[in-house]
Amino acid sequence: MRTVLMVAEKPSLAQSISKILSKGSCTSRKGLNGACSVHEYTGSFQGQSVRFKMTSVCGHVMSLDFIGKYNNWDQVDPAELFSTAPAEKKEANPKLNMVKFLQVEGRGCDYVVLWLDCDKEGENICFEVLDAIQPVMNKGSSMDQSVYRAKFSSITDTDIWNAMNCLGEPNRNEALSVDARQELDLRIGCAFTRFQTKYFQGKYGNLDSSLISFGPCQTPTLGFCVERHDKIQSFRPETYWILQAKVFKGKDNPLMLDWNRVRVFDREVGQMFVNLAKTSREAKVESVSEKEKAKQRPQALNTVEMLRVASSSLGMGPQHTMQIAERLYTQGYISYPRTETTHYPENFDLKGTLKQQTNNPFWAEEVKALLSTGLNRPRKGSDAGDHPPITPMRAASEGELGSDGWRLYEYITRHFIATISQDCKYLQTTIDFSIGPEAFSCSGKTLISPGYTTVMPWLGIPLEENLPECERGDTFTVDEIKLVEKQTSPPEYLTEAELITLMEKHGVGTDASIPVHINNICQRNYVTIENGRKLKPTNLGIVLVHGYYKIDAELVLPTIRSAVEKQLNLIAQGKANFQQVLQHTLDIFKRKFHYFVDSITGMDELMEVSFSPIAASGKPLARCGKCHRFMKYIQAKPSRLHCSHCDETYSLPQNGAIKLYKELRCPLDDFELVLWTSGARGKSYPLCPYCYSNAPFRDMKKGMGCNECTHPSCQHSLNSLGIGQCVECDTGVLVLDPTSGPKWRMACNKCNVVVHFFEHAHRVQVAQESCDACEASLVAVDFNKTRTPLAAGETQHTGCVFCDPVFQDLVELKHATMRYRGGGARRGGRGRGRGRRGNPKKPKDKMAALAAYFV
Ligand SMILES: [Zn+2]
Ligand SMILES: [Zn+2]
Ligand SMILES: [Zn+2]
Ligand SMILES: [Zn+2]
Ligand SMILES: [Zn+2]
Repeated sequence: MRTVLMVAEKPSLAQSISKILSKGSCTSRKGLNGACSVHEYTGSFQGQSVRFKMTSVCGHVMSLDFIGKYNNWDQVDPAELFSTAPAEKKEANPKLNMVKFLQVEGRGCDYVVLWLDCDKEGENICFEVLDAIQPVMNKGSSMDQSVYRAKFSSITDTDIWNAMNCLGEPNRNEALSVDARQELDLRIGCAFTRFQTKYFQGKYGNLDSSLISFGPCQTPTLGFCVERHDKIQSFRPETYWILQAKVFKGKDNPLMLDWNRVRVFDREVGQMFVNLAKTSREAKVESVSEKEKAKQRPQALNTVEMLRVASSSLGMGPQHTMQIAERLYTQGYISYPRTETTHYPENFDLKGTLKQQTNNPFWAEEVKALLSTGLNRPRKGSDAGDHPPITPMRAASEGELGSDGWRLYEYITRHFIATISQDCKYLQTTIDFSIGPEAFSCSGKTLISPGYTTVMPWLGIPLEENLPECERGDTFTVDEIKLVEKQTSPPEYLTEAELITLMEKHGVGTDASIPVHINNICQRNYVTIENGRKLKPTNLGIVLVHGYYKIDAELVLPTIRSAVEKQLNLIAQGKANFQQVLQHTLDIFKRKFHYFVDSITGMDELMEVSFSPIAASGKPLARCGKCHRFMKYIQAKPSRLHCSHCDETYSLPQNGAIKLYKELRCPLDDFELVLWTSGARGKSYPLCPYCYSNAPFRDMKKGMGCNECTHPSCQHSLNSLGIGQCVECDTGVLVLDPTSGPKWRMACNKCNVVVHFFEHAHRVQVAQESCDACEASLVAVDFNKTRTPLAAGETQHTGCVFCDPVFQDLVELKHATMRYRGGGARRGGRGRGRGRRGNPKKPKDKMAALAAYFV
């Protein structure tokens, strides 16, 4: 029997789809990477009986990165990143072992059906999957089609079966457009980011970001926020005057009239109009008009509109909204949430979709009314040809979705019902008055039929007091006429919803990436989110954008990016050549980069105004080993030490407190040691500022504290304080924390493990000898005479914390994963810490982690 491999984008999708296709009769097992499952069943495919194997990836299999030395910020001129530096696809998440997993499952398969999400990213992942499995699949005859692509927009029986019954082929061009975008973002983003970060980082003390990133989309996004900020700053309020008239007739409530001239900016002129109007005590009705008006039902929902409403009405940020929407999609509650389409295809089963909502108590009445009177045709929208608009696909209750899930689902459902309801109709009444020579009017709305606003009540016509009955020629008594002084008010900071609108309008980002860019500028500390989800730029964000404007406005204006996005779309449509677009765009940005580097002092001048030079900030802390003067501790992130005499900066571990460590010095370089603590219950260890930045031994790397230092005789080093191998990680060593008394503890120098032992001891010391059984270093403890836990009032004992029965109850080794590993840290002259031998894990690639920021 032949085998058909099928691959979805996420494990949960593989599960739902296989459940539908196997009609609930598949058997499931875990794959070798532990993250993905394989669901198997037999069925028929292209007229033959076959075995189906459905599994999934976890998003992108591969990600693009530079190779080798090009990841090193210090070795490579960023300009090389535009052309010389080779980039290659690496596994996006090596832990998942995805390629191996796909090959194991794909070996010997005859056909593959790709069930990746139906957008450009999904198309790109199709080819990542094919690259992995095609070499191991069975080779059929060359005439046979063996690769199929399923197209679907929701995880429902109908949609999935339809997709299975008309399989197509994956779209190479769409996949290439994603490759092009990835490569452009990587090269451009990394070059500018590395240059800026290195240039500014050592210069200013209170610069509050560890990474000064540039992104071809991210930076224009920030640009919009700063542009609004500048408008607010340069705003000068103007005073203006309006004429306010209050009139009444008989016992009716007084009526406020609007002045037809609206306002004047000259007080004298305003006063003249008041005087003119005041010549009459009567307001005469000149005309009464009534007009039936309609408030249109909304267009069908697409991604951008969903993000806007979620931000402005539900208070949910775009990134969060997308995550929730994807979950709702994966669970089959809504259709695919990434779409530009606002138009329902002709054959879309609107009625069937609506019927699913008949039992929800919140809108059952509206749904039943619609089903009995008949659905209204949805308004014409635009059809991007990708997916139907975002639509609820099955009924749900608040309990099963969770709070935010429900709020988003409720909105999507109400919006859907509204699109097939009637428009809201109301009567607008306007009465025109004259008071002396001046014209006034007032108007009011009366509801005729609420239409869709019953299901979207927040959009309803506000209830107003009815206008008095009157006709042409009637007169009202003037109660009061006065000149009121007002001021024009400045615009407010951009809301997220406004920013999304701007990005969409200027083609910066796509429906899929807009949330990522907005999230990035928040995370990089360029804007903060204020009340009402308004985006307020930080000092750094403002300086950066102003700097780009000064040097090369195109770096921040949306024009270049939208031109690039257009080119990418042409690649996707097969109308432009991948290599040509890539080369052309990189050439442009390479020239921009060189100009930027040459003109960087323009940015510097702005930085100097907002940030203080490093020499002027920070408080004195530890002494420099070279000049023996105090260095300054700069607390703003990234916190570091700076010696203004030697003009050197030394990095420090982040996210903790730094203090002086008993004025002790490093025997290698004479720098005063400092102590890093992550809080009262957390870890702490001493470090030498010089060694931390410049590893003293070949086997040490940058960023190591004394708890990893292999100095053979230093009393603060791993060799003196290491006790035994970590109980959790493979390479860590548990090191005594000499500052932790009276609640003594040891902490792993690699992972977060902290082991508590020996309360109420005066002294805990690591001895020279090691345990015969496990090779861990022995520990000598001197307990407090009055509170010693030892038998017979003994106060001193030396033993192994892992093996000695006397210590057993005093050490918190209850840890579930605590296990005997054999071999502890060897110390002194006998060799180096065990953690350094064996098979240390490959250090994580920094650029791979950072690449995500540069989109
Ligand atoms: Zn110095
Ligand atoms: Zn040192
Ligand atoms: Zn040291
Ligand atoms: Zn560990
Ligand atoms: Zn032992």
